Amino acid sequence: MYDYVIVGGGVVGSFIAHALSHYEGKTLLLEKERTLAQVQTTHNSALVHPELMMPPEKGELKARLGKEGNAMYQELAAQLDVPVNRNGALLVARSGEEMVQLKKMVNDAREQGTAEVDVLSSDEVREIEPNLKASIAGAVKLSAAMSADTSMLTGKIAERATKNGAQINTGEEVTAINFENGVFSISTSSGSEYQSRFLINAAGTANERIAEMVENEVPYKIEPQRGEYIVLDSSAKDFIQHIIYPLPTKKSKGVLMIPQPDGTIRLGPTSVEQSSIDSASVTEEGEKEIRAEIDRLVDNPPYDRISHGYAGIRSSINQEDFYIKPSHEVEAFIHVAGIDSPGVTAAPAIAKYVVEEVIAELEPLRRKENNLLETEIL
Ligand SMILES: Cc1cc2nc3c(=O)[nH]c(=O)nc-3n(C[C@H](O)[C@H](O)[C@H](O)COP(=O)(O)OP(=O)(O)OC[C@H]3O[C@@H](n4cnc5c(N)ncnc54)[C@H](O)[C@@H]3O)c2cc1C
Repeated sequence: MYDYVIVGGGVVGSFIAHALSHYEGKTLLLEKERTLAQVQTTHNSALVHPELMMPPEKGELKARLGKEGNAMYQELAAQLDVPVNRNGALLVARSGEEMVQLKKMVNDAREQGTAEVDVLSSDEVREIEPNLKASIAGAVKLSAAMSADTSMLTGKIAERATKNGAQINTGEEVTAINFENGVFSISTSSGSEYQSRFLINAAGTANERIAEMVENEVPYKIEPQRGEYIVLDSSAKDFIQHIIYPLPTKKSKGVLMIPQPDGTIRLGPTSVEQSSIDSASVTEEGEKEIRAEIDRLVDNPPYDRISHGYAGIRSSINQEDFYIKPSHEVEAFIHVAGIDSPGVTAAPAIAKYVVEEVIAELEPLRRKENNLLETEIL
């Protein structure tokens, strides 16, 4: 019998396993793929977003946990020895009209106490990024932004969790859950059955599917959004140094240029509603849209260096904010749902929140002595 079973071994489930491994009790993570982080966690922009890009209007919990997560990553990446690109980001205005909007964003952020909002002129910004178009009217420099190797990050945090006593079983797809007399019985595709007192649903786009195994009425609906990318190989690495954000739209953060720690540059993502949570394809329209948006940012993008394309599906729900709460029907079933962007950024803070503010509210937790990675951060 386990105390905590987590469904889903993306970055979120792995950080939760790690956080729980610091406490008394048996923790097990079940992941359907043969290795961790094969779904959303590695089919994204891999950005640790800065505070300005996660305003409270887009979700109070997203803003809070995103900000806390960003602060945690500043040291965590070095502690875990995960490759990161720390050159920072530029949020650029592509016209005089956009410059007015950018200044308003900056004023709002200053009023909300956002730390880092220094405005650069058109000349200043093109001095540090000469390939940006002359029409770029100005930018805000955001040094707390970084891109990270999210596959290695998830692997390293999961490894710490197992060293602390958590168990991780991959190739185990949860197919049915039964709740009786305070115990979850969890069946998997391999024919195994596991018993647990708590069940934490961190299954990403499959959140609703898992919740339906336990609840009569799931309190959210998944609304999958596809994001497509094209990737420039590492021979293009000198083309830009900073992550380039255009001004965000109501719908998304727009199409970005994202230098990665391995020297490649991701261009994307698009944002397209789709019904399937199981497959994401790269389309001609997607590539066309990405190129059109990138052409508004830089002169002569090196499209001859494109190595491949890929797509990911955001686990968006019909509510703006993250949905992290115990079930109204079965209290020991914890929803960790709607974890679309900034889910990578927020992941370490989501884990802390789930353990210290959700589970600890349901029963007292006792911290183990002699943990690994026993720091101020986690
Ligand atoms: C296009 C795109 C761009 C994004 N860009 C960023 C960004 O730059 N910065 C940022 O902070 N966030 C970004 N995000 C969001 C971020 O990627 C997610 O919030 C984060 O990866 C969510 O992690 P997760 O662990 O919840 O989900 P996932 O990584 O999807 O993990 C869920 C896991 O559950 C497993 N699973 C599903 N069903 C079962 C089952 N029945 N049994 C067992 N296991 C199961 C899956 O195999 C999967 O491994 C982006 C997302 C997308 C799609």
